[in-house]
Amino acid sequence: MLKAENIKLSFGDNEILKGINLEIKEGQVVSIIGPSGSGKSTLIKTMLGMEKADTGKALVLDKIMPERKILGNIGYMAQSDALYEALTGYENLEFFGQMKNLKGEKLKEEISYVAEVVDLSADLKKQVENYSGGMKRRLSLAIALLGKPKLLVLDEPTVGIDPALRRKIWRELYKQRDNGVGILITTHVMDEAELCNKVGLLLGGKIIAFDTPKNLKEKNNVNTIEDVFLTVEVK
Ligand code: ADP
Ligand code: MG
Repeated sequence: MLKAENIKLSFGDNEILKGINLEIKEGQVVSIIGPSGSGKSTLIKTMLGMEKADTGKALVLDKIMPERKILGNIGYMAQSDALYEALTGYENLEFFGQMKNLKGEKLKEEISYVAEVVDLSADLKKQVENYSGGMKRRLSLAIALLGKPKLLVLDEPTVGIDPALRRKIWRELYKQRDNGVGILITTHVMDEAELCNKVGLLLGGKIIAFDTPKNLKEKNNVNTIEDVFLTVEVK
């Protein structure tokens, strides 16, 4: 699904990614956790071809990124919402759906499905400038889900989303995963990392551990991913 090979990237003298290798297979949810500023968003953008790596490469669905032809297979949710504030929620979904070549009845069906997943059905007629931060996050997630992408890349998708809805979103992510979708998320919510098939710890420009939550906890002799993180951070 997605493979990063020895990706290095600096901004000026600041070496952010120091040789990242990472793989996400179909039917897997993989999370990247790491402190703020550790390069999670930069890694995602580099893998999707939105930042140019100094060395290394990323492959999505066996194609070297960036590759325009497969962008339609990727549902990307950026860390900061890129929405049209003057349009309604519905109009935003319509616009991004059309960009993914959805039209007519199919477009309508998909909009009502993704809006339901993020619990925005009742708010679609409101202008986005009147949405709360959490509602905007939910709309961005709905947009990423449009068009049934094979790969979902979600940068901190559940920030500002309340626990009940967060659970609902996770149910949907599992459903997608069980249909063979590959999912990469970044999160700083440690208990969300527990819900993933594999967790990568990004620290000092490197993925210093990549394993199942269970193995990570056993190896470090702790009970939670938060403790794994604290343990390796100090080392
Ligand atoms: P994270 O998502 O883990 O919080 P980021 O990937 O956003 O971290 O940022 C990693 C580091 O790279 C930070 O120090 C940030 O200031 C820096 N950075 C990110 N984007 C740019 C850019 N376009 N130009 C210069 N520095 C950047
Ligand atoms: Mg980030």
